[in-house]
Amino acid sequence: MSKTIASGNICSAPRPEPPDRVTAPVLTIDPGAVVDNWRQLAARHAGDTAAVVKADAYGLGAALIAPALAAAGCRHFFVATPDEAFRLRTVLADPWIAVLNGCPAGMERDFIAHRLTPVLNSLGDVARWRTSVQDRAMSHPAVLHIDTGMSRLGFDRAEMAQLDTTPDLLTGVTLTYIMSHLVSAEQPDCDETRQQATRFARLRARFSGVKTSFANSSGMFLGPAFESDLARPGYALYGGNPVPGRANPMRPVVGLAAPILQIRQIEPGDTVGYNATWRAARPSLIATIGVGYADGMPRTLANRLLAYHNEKPVPLVGRVSMDLMSFDITDCPALAPGDLLDLIGPHHGIDDLAHEAGTLGYEILTSLGRRYRRVAKSV
Ligand SMILES: *Cc1c(COP(=O)(O)O)cnc(C)c1O
Repeated sequence: MSKTIASGNICSAPRPEPPDRVTAPVLTIDPGAVVDNWRQLAARHAGDTAAVVKADAYGLGAALIAPALAAAGCRHFFVATPDEAFRLRTVLADPWIAVLNGCPAGMERDFIAHRLTPVLNSLGDVARWRTSVQDRAMSHPAVLHIDTGMSRLGFDRAEMAQLDTTPDLLTGVTLTYIMSHLVSAEQPDCDETRQQATRFARLRARFSGVKTSFANSSGMFLGPAFESDLARPGYALYGGNPVPGRANPMRPVVGLAAPILQIRQIEPGDTVGYNATWRAARPSLIATIGVGYADGMPRTLANRLLAYHNEKPVPLVGRVSMDLMSFDITDCPALAPGDLLDLIGPHHGIDDLAHEAGTLGYEILTSLGRRYRRVAKSV
């Protein structure tokens, strides 16, 4: 027997979610807080303030974050790779976009067509860029990166010496900025940091007339020796603490909450999770949520992570599984399936989570999984 379904029958409509019930882990991202953080950083110094939006804005979504920053007046953006830059150009028509890892050989034409600024990291980079620019008889400015201690990318000592004896090596290349990158900016009283400031001051004199770009997020809190014409904060924009050990001056940007899937009662001696790394010492209530290492929760959180229900901490017990984690909620007996546990929230920020995992908030952010329901708070 077939049932007649009247048109507009509610059975065919998507089931509405009661407002206080969330059925999947939700990652909340607040672009307004990113904008506030950018404004706060920009107010800290006299020069311009860029936004570093590499790695998809540290995992939060460059297509969401970058236009919000541009609307707030940010005119300079840094990404790491050409692909990130091409994608960013589709959502940012006008602003200056620089590519930290440089322009790969053969891609010069695409950089010029999309008005992307390469960071030139070696004499070879300079020579290639000059050739492609001269071929087109156009001035396409670039950034010159000079290594002052990272030993990673940028001109090294030997290349700087070569430049000293043969200044013509730069002829024909318009430099918008010289830049360098700090090794330990989050450790203010550190010899490397002081040494880099001295080296950068020398470069400033050596390239007088060219603008400079120096500080990252933490570098912006180090004082006048780290000032430049263009600061390059990333992490602090996303709510990370640029001054570890002190109160975080930034607004939080990210929230992560997951509903409890199941609660079970276990007896003393029962174990939780793979390899039985946690054993109950008392009759315990164990709540399991659908978030695991496939969602960017490091396995090093095992037996260390604190989630929160409102203000109450509940400890992760046992290992992190691929798709699940379990918490001892014995002290919160009123919790029920569907109730939310905050993994990132007002009482537990990205730096706290990172500390428990033995890593940095940078890694937590850029590892945030693709399975979360992502919700942007409206600006
Ligand atoms: C990632 C990066 C930044 C931003 O650093 P934060 O510590 O996230 O502020 C700045 N400059 C360079 C060269 C970078 O690679």
